[in-house]
Amino acid sequence: MERCESREAATTTCPTCGWPDSEVFEVVSRHMVSTGMMIYTRCPCGKLRARTITVP
Ligand SMILES: [Zn+2]
Repeated sequence: MERCESREAATTTCPTCGWPDSEVFEVVSRHMVSTGMMIYTRCPCGKLRARTITVP
């Protein structure tokens, strides 16, 4: 049996304003972590969001 393991980026949107997670509105700060880089972004609605970018 073949397992479907597509690693498509899940399109998550802000529950408040519906802004897509893939689009960065404003970068608040960046932090280097062991797995890559953690970026804090601000939504157009003012909500702070954190995302991790894995650097190979
Ligand atoms: Zn929002």
